[in-house]
Amino acid sequence: MVQTTYDAIKYKTPTGSEKTCKGWIQEAALRMLLNNLNPDVAERPDDLIVYGGRGKAARNFEALDNIIAALKVLENDESLLIQSGKPVGMLKTHKDAPRVLISNSQLVPNWANWKHFEELEQKGLMMYGQMTAGSWIYIGSQGIVQGTYETYAALADKHYNGSLKGTLNITAGLGGMGGAQPLAITMNEGVALIAEVEEWRIDKRIETKYLDEKYTNIDEAIDKAVRYKAEGVGKSIGVLCNAVHLLQRLIERNIIPDTLTDQTSAHDPLIGYVPHTLTNEQANILRTQNPTEYLERSYESMYLHVQLMLQLMDKGAITFDYGNNIRARAKEFEDRKKTSPQEEKSESPKERQPSSGLSDSPSFRLNRCFDFPGFVPAYIRPLFCEGKGPFRWAALSGDPNDIAVTDELIMNMFPENKGMIRWMKMAKEKIAFQGLPARICWLGQGEREKAGLAFNELVRTGKVKAPIVIGRDHLDTGSVASPNRETESMLDGSDAVADWPILNALVNTAGGASWVSLHHGGGVGMGYSIHAGMVIVADGTDDAEQRLKRVLRNDPGMGVIRHADAGYDIAKETLKANDLDFRERL
Ligand code: NAD
Repeated sequence: MVQTTYDAIKYKTPTGSEKTCKGWIQEAALRMLLNNLNPDVAERPDDLIVYGGRGKAARNFEALDNIIAALKVLENDESLLIQSGKPVGMLKTHKDAPRVLISNSQLVPNWANWKHFEELEQKGLMMYGQMTAGSWIYIGSQGIVQGTYETYAALADKHYNGSLKGTLNITAGLGGMGGAQPLAITMNEGVALIAEVEEWRIDKRIETKYLDEKYTNIDEAIDKAVRYKAEGVGKSIGVLCNAVHLLQRLIERNIIPDTLTDQTSAHDPLIGYVPHTLTNEQANILRTQNPTEYLERSYESMYLHVQLMLQLMDKGAITFDYGNNIRARAKEFEDRKKTSPQEEKSESPKERQPSSGLSDSPSFRLNRCFDFPGFVPAYIRPLFCEGKGPFRWAALSGDPNDIAVTDELIMNMFPENKGMIRWMKMAKEKIAFQGLPARICWLGQGEREKAGLAFNELVRTGKVKAPIVIGRDHLDTGSVASPNRETESMLDGSDAVADWPILNALVNTAGGASWVSLHHGGGVGMGYSIHAGMVIVADGTDDAEQRLKRVLRNDPGMGVIRHADAGYDIAKETLKANDLDFRERL
């Protein structure tokens, strides 16, 4: 019988030192796939949704069952092919080839929009893989927390002498990724006040120790946040309300946040964003009954949301886009209004306003949706230039002590990397594992390779109980083309060039990564990004050692090459320092 809901017993992640597949790589893929769907990890396991709006691990339950069955019989010289979350073939390759090759949500560019995707999704032909959902290397909110922490740390360095102590930081969305925001802000000693429309999401973040307090009344939440700010106490508050309503109330009360961003799933206007003109319950009904009207309201609301952010920015809030493409959604709405015949008759911007009440705002002007920057050019790109990115690993044994062993090793290996040591100490203390014990820590060119080889030795010498899986987000230095996010405002204007993630997937396949994925639309939605993922298993063998050497050098190396090619000096230096400049051999 085909499954229709998540079954916690049937889909329980295997743990321990004994494998159920024909090789540890297949076993790793199986455990990480099931770990992605573990209810402690995934946002909506009954819908196979892992995080990020509708980011799924498998197309449907039948596909999930077939993937599991296929991984169990897959030989050590075969590769399983996954087409948008469905297994479609097992082909002969060789022992060093990836055991799984994944392509998710790819559409020919002229058809690459949500409307066409949704038609195909309804016919059961497509799945949205987000980034680490469809590539089976999501590790819960921890997967993004260091990146978010680094972003706020960079912001604090730039504007507040290295600490957010005594600052009020406003944002929205406590989903799979957004749920990392409160912890990242309090780790930087700031006060976080976060709007979220679904109460269970707030509760989940409190349970997993990412969030400190919950309020259902906006004014009470604001009062408490302002008090914590005055006392210089780093605390986080989730408030059950729409982001738009929180921002409106802050403006009414003339309370200007120190920083302002947003992590609702604005990349997906139908599934990911709840319009301020609907309650959450109304939204769930309208979404299925009248998706066209839902989308209209969603766009209108996102437009107002961005206008409110701009207003607060004009009053002094340090404002940035946190990778959900909300600026583009607002601009799409504005452009449509400008060109629709009815709107063309409008004479003043005021008349073109959505039904929001914002039209009285003195700071409202058209063409301002992109007036605040994205977080990558503002804070992260220098790290990318050094090949730094979200290196992560999980203990297949399921034993937290295996992660403790790796934590110790990493801190001893790179004592000069002070930022990383500070992070690791905090992570050990503050991060509760979700599903398989895992760790994230941003490492750069050279470091990732050393860490991978050292993990392989831990497995070989039995210092950990089972192999370690090493992977990363697609949000990384050399694996993504996303002009409103990772590749926004590249020095040479190459923001939309997507050869780079394709080359990344190809080189990781050639190098022998354990599974390789190529996705479209992650983070920012259909038509806005192409990106690649890779995972590599350290199983303690000589073969794994050779593969780790290649893959963990080449993968960040692609990022260094990409940024050097775009003209970044730090990347050019990293290129030379790591023998990645092919011209020197000519
Ligand atoms: P998610 O879908 O799991 O969570 C989104 C949350 O926003 C949900 O809890 C939802 O209830 C809430 N929400 C929706 N509309 C709202 C509104 N108007 N007001 C208040 N709350 C609202 O998504 P996620 O995994 O948390 O990712 C959030 C966004 O961040 C996505 O667009 C994703 O692509 C992007 N993202 C950013 C990064 C990054 O590093 N910056 C990384 C991954 C994802």
